[in-house]
Amino acid sequence: MSRTSGSRIVEETTLKSGHLERLATRIETPGDRPSLEVRTPVTDETIGAIPACTADDVVDAVERARSAQVDWERAPVDQRAAVLERFGDLVLKRREELLDVVQLETGKARHHAVEEILDVPLTCSYYATNGTSILADDDRAAAVPLASDATVTYDPVGVVGVISPWNYPLTLAMTDAIPALLAGNAVVCKPDERTPFIALALANLLAEAGLPDDLFQIVTGDGATVGPALIDEVDYVAFTGGTETGRTVAERAGRNLIGCSLELGGKNPMLVLDDADPGTAARGAVKGAFTNAGQLCLAPERIYVDDRRYDEFLDALVGATRRLDLGLEFDYGPEVGSLIDGDHLESVREHVERAVADGGSLLSGGRARPDVGPFCYEPTILTDVDPDSRVACEETFGPVVSVHPVSGVDEAIERANDSEYGLNASVWTTDRERGRAVARQIDCGTVCVNDPYTVGWAATDAPMGGFGDSGLGRRHGPEGLRRYVDARTIATSRIGPLDAPPGVSPRWFARFMLGLTNVQRRLTRWLP
Ligand code: NDP
Repeated sequence: MSRTSGSRIVEETTLKSGHLERLATRIETPGDRPSLEVRTPVTDETIGAIPACTADDVVDAVERARSAQVDWERAPVDQRAAVLERFGDLVLKRREELLDVVQLETGKARHHAVEEILDVPLTCSYYATNGTSILADDDRAAAVPLASDATVTYDPVGVVGVISPWNYPLTLAMTDAIPALLAGNAVVCKPDERTPFIALALANLLAEAGLPDDLFQIVTGDGATVGPALIDEVDYVAFTGGTETGRTVAERAGRNLIGCSLELGGKNPMLVLDDADPGTAARGAVKGAFTNAGQLCLAPERIYVDDRRYDEFLDALVGATRRLDLGLEFDYGPEVGSLIDGDHLESVREHVERAVADGGSLLSGGRARPDVGPFCYEPTILTDVDPDSRVACEETFGPVVSVHPVSGVDEAIERANDSEYGLNASVWTTDRERGRAVARQIDCGTVCVNDPYTVGWAATDAPMGGFGDSGLGRRHGPEGLRRYVDARTIATSRIGPLDAPPGVSPRWFARFMLGLTNVQRRLTRWLP
């Protein structure tokens, strides 16, 4: 397909003329603000502009959100759930338009963008179905059985700030916002300045689904200005992005004494055991390492293969990788798309060149492909990589994977755990029980057996997050909802104050309480 120039790239999509300009009008600022250009990695041309919001704009947005939240919190959970279910339906219905916006902003292959679409209705349905029970009052063990009781209630924290990255701009703007809204909070979202339009499109769909005005707002602009201002105003911040930015978010949240969840980077290991099917494992490696051109926090970047399977696995992996079709069409043809921009292309190129200079061997890829797109890079396989080189230790976040032979499962586990990160891992074996046993020994928040990441990510009932430098807190599951509520314990006494009744000597009362405590401890130990 021949490429058109300027914003005419939008005409290659199904989007109507002026669509992106109309989306930008959703951002409210009291006065004129400088514009930030948004460029598409498909052609590196400008496709639109957004206002560079100021700290005052953030204060205004949070204030509006705070007023709207009061009534939303009072609405029954079922009513909030119904809005989110309708939103999930709308995301599915308008998928073609949303896919076009995601592809324009990120340059990713369309079938990788579909994963983003699928995630939103799944998350909506999970929380809509389970939210009532997760948020229901919870009876707990009493201080003195029969004489007292204890119940926990859950109240929304108020306004949640969601700071999201560019790599999965649809999923990651929403996956943290959905449970926050369901819990009765308002949300102010700051998308990455490179990918604001999909967040704006989702804000429109939330409104169409019946979400009251001002409950979900977008503030756009430079992260270093808008991010800290947002953290200073909200009651909780859900951040997804790089580890170094995550540290600054945590510091600021700590100073403000608000809670935060941090979903950060990874250097994810994949372990191919001696009983694995090499063809299946290679198929999984291709899917994991090259989805979204490797710009996926869960993507495997280092693969440890049992000596006995190494040659077969490598042959299958190299064959499948060389067959991948790189391209930028707005349809399901190409299998791998673009990197996000020129800086990121340079960083990926540098990782590979340094690895080769340090003795690594290139088995496939290793070249930029400006003939396909300005920031395209070939899916790349490295072997003989120095374990201390950047590509072996630091997150590359591109279509680059290194493969290492290991002498057995113990070495595979040891090398997998030799990292500051701990986000996601996968284990490949024909024996799922063995896979589970190995998974327990891997220091990562998610370990998938016989799949690179989807079975973990799409299990919306199960928590997802990182160990070590990969983050703090969890999204998905009950944990992903409970982070957005304050727990209050209400305890009542049937016998008045738990103190010596009138006329009972303190000595006798102390003896009685010690005896009672002993009985209680024994009962707790014996009773199921
Ligand atoms: P960044 O940390 O640079 O940016 C993430 C978001 O934070 C952007 O919206 C950015 O805004 C904003 N931001 C920038 N500076 C600040 C600040 N001082 N305070 C608050 N917010 C700020 O990450 P990348 O954009 O480079 O994203 C890639 C990284 O994200 C990778 O390391 C990847 O592994 C990680 N990631 C983790 C995921 C997970 O679930 N664990 C999922 C996806 C990505 P702006 O860019 O507009 O300035």
